[in-house]
Amino acid sequence: MIATHDTCRFCQTPLEHSFCDLGMTPLSNSYLTQQQLERGEAFYPLHAYVCSECFLVQVKEYELPQNIFGDYAYFSSYSDSWLKHCKQYAEKMIEDLKLDPSKQVIEIASNDGYLLQFFKERNIPVLGVEPAANVAKVAEEKGIPSLVEFFGSSLAEEMKAKNMQADLLIGNNVLAHVPALNDFVKGLKILLRADGIITMEFPHLLQLMQSYQFDTIYHEHFSYFSLLAVEKVFNAQGLKIFDVEELKTHGGSLRIYATHRENAQRQIHPRVLDIKERERGLHFEELGGYAQFALDVQQIKSDLLSFFLDCKKKGKSVVGYGAPAKGNTLLNFCGIRSQFLKFTVDRSPHKQGHFLPGTHIPIYAVEEIAKAKPDYLFILPWNLKEEIMSQMAFIREWGGKFVIPIPELEILE
Ligand SMILES: [Zn+2]
Repeated sequence: MIATHDTCRFCQTPLEHSFCDLGMTPLSNSYLTQQQLERGEAFYPLHAYVCSECFLVQVKEYELPQNIFGDYAYFSSYSDSWLKHCKQYAEKMIEDLKLDPSKQVIEIASNDGYLLQFFKERNIPVLGVEPAANVAKVAEEKGIPSLVEFFGSSLAEEMKAKNMQADLLIGNNVLAHVPALNDFVKGLKILLRADGIITMEFPHLLQLMQSYQFDTIYHEHFSYFSLLAVEKVFNAQGLKIFDVEELKTHGGSLRIYATHRENAQRQIHPRVLDIKERERGLHFEELGGYAQFALDVQQIKSDLLSFFLDCKKKGKSVVGYGAPAKGNTLLNFCGIRSQFLKFTVDRSPHKQGHFLPGTHIPIYAVEEIAKAKPDYLFILPWNLKEEIMSQMAFIREWGGKFVIPIPELEILE
């Protein structure tokens, strides 16, 4: 298998400048069954580049999106803090945009209806677009109508022809996962009513770099956006970003607000200019601004391996918490397999009984922690560490400690 594109997915400039090379890894969401352990496993280069023209950080595309997302193991509804974040967002948008039963909310990558349910319970018409059939089915069961489709300009045209357009068009953690970025944003433009608003949330490249979140780089995550870069992508399709918020989710995200360029009611908020100024101050419009990151990542790998070797020497046991995509990047890149991490646990029954891709670490139910009484609990979804530490506070009864890998190795009693 070779990369299907060697050029920038926004501006088509050849990709020649390395941002971070994480070696060869399997697709991070391809959890394995016991039976699949007996077979070979496909590994692909995991190498992020920075475009020398538009400075979009990106990985190349190696696999058909259908193979990645067709039967997706990620169900949004399994994190309490994420659901709380979504409910607050829905309430704010209903208030700010005066949404009522005459308006239409559409979400791209609507998953299991984790977000649209909060609009539906206020009687606002909702529609989800979700390519993973197994996940969309769960949404339908909650009464959230869902189109099982990949979103792009041709689907947007079909929807518009059927009079389906959005007053509020939402995409949470989807923009970064889109291989055909320009066509996707073109589709947003088509699907948006004249005075409609788009909001999109995605991890902020600035936070990724400042907190060494190299593990958020994986094959299914194609683009890593600064505000400077995402603005170029939206402007190219006749959309303007008029406001932005910095969020704590996923290690530090941006929520951008966009509308049609012609929509004169929306003026550009000073926050947009402020964040772009900060990014320029960090040299995000020069290749030199991206050079140090890969060196820092090597240091983190050394520190993590030292910790695990030390535990091995002292006979201390370490088990994992969580089986997120980011955990697979971290474990594969650092070479941490079941000799170091006996097993991990996950609340999602869809992952329990499976094995992590590449490292083949088994995934059990959360109850296994109390049985195994490990010396250390290694938290893979570090972005949820407060929530997990409070749920797992009982490990202190036997002297268990928490280990947080990112932004740097930290051991918490
Ligand atoms: Zn480019």
